[in-house]
Amino acid sequence: LLFCNIDILDEQFNLQKNRFVGVAGGRIDYVGAVKPEKRYEREYDGAGRLLMPGLYNSHTHSPMSLLRGYAENMPLADWLNKRVFPFEAKLEAEDIYNGCLLSIAEMLRFGTVSFTDMYYMGEEVAKAVIESGIKANYSNGVSCFDGSDYRDLPVYENNKRLIKNFHNAADGRFKVDLCIHGEYTSTPKVVAGVAEHAASEGLNTHVHISETKAEHEACKTRHGKTPVEYFRDLGLLDAPATAAHCVWLENDDFDILREKGVTVASCPVSNMKLASGFADVPRMLRKSVRVAIGTDSSASNNNLDMLKEIHAFCVASKGAFRDPEAVSPAQALEAATARGAAAQGRADCGVLKAGAKADLIVLDARAPHMHPAHNMANNVAYAASGGDVLLTMADGRVLYREGEWLTIDIEKAVFNAGESTAAVLKKLNGF
Ligand SMILES: [Zn+2]
Repeated sequence: LLFCNIDILDEQFNLQKNRFVGVAGGRIDYVGAVKPEKRYEREYDGAGRLLMPGLYNSHTHSPMSLLRGYAENMPLADWLNKRVFPFEAKLEAEDIYNGCLLSIAEMLRFGTVSFTDMYYMGEEVAKAVIESGIKANYSNGVSCFDGSDYRDLPVYENNKRLIKNFHNAADGRFKVDLCIHGEYTSTPKVVAGVAEHAASEGLNTHVHISETKAEHEACKTRHGKTPVEYFRDLGLLDAPATAAHCVWLENDDFDILREKGVTVASCPVSNMKLASGFADVPRMLRKSVRVAIGTDSSASNNNLDMLKEIHAFCVASKGAFRDPEAVSPAQALEAATARGAAAQGRADCGVLKAGAKADLIVLDARAPHMHPAHNMANNVAYAASGGDVLLTMADGRVLYREGEWLTIDIEKAVFNAGESTAAVLKKLNGF
């Protein structure tokens, strides 16, 4: 495919007008101002359109689309214990698949090409990811409240099976990470076990860290150290790690995250909606901590629109820390693309340059809210939303184009998600 006469956001998120971008064999093989001599199978007329890197959602729980709008306006503990956990306890394998596929359809619609997921029944997520053409790093959430060894928990066998059957499946589109749900839902023994497993298999890790003040303070009381120190001491951060939230970091936490090369997946909308607080992203960036962006689940957001999340990421940082210079659009766009890709261990992804994997999206640049374009990166970060996405391509394959999902039967996906939701409610309510 050759994108013709299209405006692009380059690696620094500067606008270049009327470019030609060639895609072959899953990669970008040409970027230039003149039409290449090489023939491509198809040409795409880019007039009035903007081509940019595809978006990486660095923290979500994709099957939770079934809980969108189900639990609202309540404290986190009640939200979890009274609404989310009882609902999740009734989910069957096909419900996990249906919820995940609904989320994938939404993500493709809004320009996301890859996501970092944490849930359970990973085989179902793998199936949906592989069929749909999107990419994902997936991990089974590990929790433990007793004295068990990680290797004695059922999830250890699940993880081993998942790694054997699905790690790097579909040409590397699906990767398996290892996960600890959080400090408050685990024991030091289990954390150390997961860290050891990740080291022996060379896998990434994924964990929730310091999402709420209560959780952060309780960890200090229990262990005499912050959650970041706790996970560092148990080896979990020796793997390439993604730490979601990091709202309540203090003192040395920032330096530890930088030294360990941890990527923080900041989820500003979920943190605001659940009233958890504001992650100090400006300080993270000043301290050269790697920062990516996640939506968290549709139960706490309630959408997976990464362009909206980029907007929140910029304005929440400015507002909360009273600094209008904090978090530029270019920093936010880098966090939502190249940083997310790197955190997933996909170093050749998430950038618009020759040689990179073709993870690309096209935005409608003719819409009223995209004019005038004094600075296109500003418009993308502050004025655009997922509804402006016209095309989503992952690894060189077009997966969504102007109202059509090329790999998903969208009516069936929406219908099945509705059926799953109804089935769960029936079990919960007994009628
Ligand atoms: Zn989460």
